[in-house]
Amino acid sequence: MTQTRTVTQARTETLPKDGEAAPLLELVETRARLGNREVLRGITFAVTSGEILGLVGPNGSGKTTALRCCYNALTPTGGAVLIDQVDSTTLSRKDIAKTISASVQEPTVSAGLSVRESIALGRTPHRSWLDRSTERDTAIVDRCIEQVGLVELAGRDVSTLSGGERQRVSIARALAQEPKVLLLDEPTNHLDLRHQLIVMELLAELASAGLAVVVTMHDLRLAVEYCDNLAVLTEGELRACGSTVEVLDEPLLAEVFGIKARVERGVRPRMEILGLA
Ligand code: ADP
Repeated sequence: MTQTRTVTQARTETLPKDGEAAPLLELVETRARLGNREVLRGITFAVTSGEILGLVGPNGSGKTTALRCCYNALTPTGGAVLIDQVDSTTLSRKDIAKTISASVQEPTVSAGLSVRESIALGRTPHRSWLDRSTERDTAIVDRCIEQVGLVELAGRDVSTLSGGERQRVSIARALAQEPKVLLLDEPTNHLDLRHQLIVMELLAELASAGLAVVVTMHDLRLAVEYCDNLAVLTEGELRACGSTVEVLDEPLLAEVFGIKARVERGVRPRMEILGLA
């Protein structure tokens, strides 16, 4: 990815060919600054309905920053973010929230609320502030509580939950927003192995029902098994983007992640880690 391509050039390259679904979310040569540092330097990727896109890369490579640009938590300093084909700078926060929701590692806004009340906050973009919650809101919240396995904890104060349980509350709140695109920042952090698989299986199920998912991940083995496509970031730049099994070849795994590993293709691809590169 050179620095000299224009947004229009980059967009033309990512536009859907005949028969391909149009992207629900696209970053096109997106740049972003934090403090006085440019931490994203021209990132381009797209995600369509039914697809899980993994954002991977070493610590500090810009994954969280890229995700924050996707849901308007950070305004890019260059390039574009297109939501359902529309430049996000022309959309209201509420309109963005009706299309995209995020489960991110931010200080919880739910202190003093029960699990159910916290998850119900996800319905906010669908209501004006005077509206009461409807039966449909309640049914959606119930479904999300069940999807993440929190039925037994629904009445508990969020502040009494473990890190993993809070992680699941955050995912359920994002799902309650009924987005077309779900963004998740390291959703398997803090989770035991069983719950890591439960979360990844849930994402796979949601994607097969049509959701577009963008997820930052450290665990490349889970990424290989569950992500259709990957965007690999290094030092704020896009090192590679495309089908997971194509992208994660041995030279890239050695160069970017410093590991010797190989990916076995198959209906469910797997990664075998052989050691340090
Ligand atoms: P990742 O999610 O891949 O670990 P981040 O997007 O969190 O990476 O961070 C990208 C880079 O931005 C890192 O080098 C990080 O140190 C830097 N960074 C994060 N916050 C700030 C800040 N407030 N000011 C300057 N640099 C920052």
